[in-house]
Amino acid sequence: MTQYYRPTKAVIDLTAIEQNLQAFKERDGKAEIIAVVKADAYGHGMVEVARKALETGVKWLAVATPDEALFLMDNAIKANCLVMGHTPAAFIPVAQRTGIAVAAISLDWLALAAEAVDPDLPSLKIHLKVDTGMRRVGIQAEEVEEALRLIERHSFSFDGLFTHFATADEDRNDLFQRQVSTMASIVKKINNPSLMVHVSNSAAAIMHPELAFNAVRVGISLYGIAPSSYVENNMPFALAPALGLETEIVHIKRVKAGETISYGATYRCEQDEWIATLPIGYADGMLRGLQGQEVLVRGVRMPIVGRICMDQCMIRLPEKMPVGEKVQLIGRQAGAQIRIEEWAEKLGTIAYEIPVNLTKRVPRIYC
Ligand SMILES: *Cc1c(COP(=O)(O)O)cnc(C)c1O
Repeated sequence: MTQYYRPTKAVIDLTAIEQNLQAFKERDGKAEIIAVVKADAYGHGMVEVARKALETGVKWLAVATPDEALFLMDNAIKANCLVMGHTPAAFIPVAQRTGIAVAAISLDWLALAAEAVDPDLPSLKIHLKVDTGMRRVGIQAEEVEEALRLIERHSFSFDGLFTHFATADEDRNDLFQRQVSTMASIVKKINNPSLMVHVSNSAAAIMHPELAFNAVRVGISLYGIAPSSYVENNMPFALAPALGLETEIVHIKRVKAGETISYGATYRCEQDEWIATLPIGYADGMLRGLQGQEVLVRGVRMPIVGRICMDQCMIRLPEKMPVGEKVQLIGRQAGAQIRIEEWAEKLGTIAYEIPVNLTKRVPRIYC
């Protein structure tokens, strides 16, 4: 294992991921859980999370790109794998050879895939993506019959059918209802019970277990993060956050009243203050917009003062503390907690953006 000397690290609790998986299994009954591990498992580490998911009984993984699927294979992850986004024609023979399933995202894509397939290889596994309202990728509802003809003519292996919701994380709304009913009528028309039908992301899998069909695609909440504050406020079960971000004080000093801290001198000490330096900055994913955010030291919230630098930032303490004192930026410490959702709110964004922006410089440690 690589030795790291800087005390800044992300500690990933794989047991929390297991607990969340278990909670989804109970919530969504017989539906398969498709563990969404794209974007390095939302910053948690694709290989480690995939391994844990498979160990817990998951049989399907989903990623966004063909390269992510190959990365899993290269790391000896043996599972059914679906590429949910666009797959270029050049990948088609690779998908045939490896058995990676790909999303058929348009009639044009089906035509290109038909030209790209190698007839001497096993047939291409496809999951037909229907655009029921997201307007991102997918065939239109009126194109389903034509898509089925192309699939049959070119002997693709028609394994799955799916769609993606635009507003499943909000209170009941028209768009969501329209997407549900469009999809229901397509499923009914195709009427193929061996097909793997999956429509739900985390929000729908939490709020609408009745829509589980035979599989759900769970991403963000696998990691213990709520998809939105609406879902968070209406959670039928508890999620276990998997990611902790921690560091240690590396420097501490008394700064005189009137002096300023960091670039731009944006923070002025009102009195003599204890200022500690932390070895984490925006190049680690501790974005500059987090100036003023609190961190935990000895279970107490302490503010980040002054501009966050690329590699370091400063906090204010009520008293002198030793170099080496533990600091929790995200996660629990001595009964207190700072959640990823709190960072997202401070930054005016969604929780999804936080862990995926923790950079490679922050080692992921597993427990
Ligand atoms: C990312 C993604 C998911 C997972 O969504 P979460 O909200 O993270 O659960 C599911 N389906 C598709 C098509 C996606 O791109």
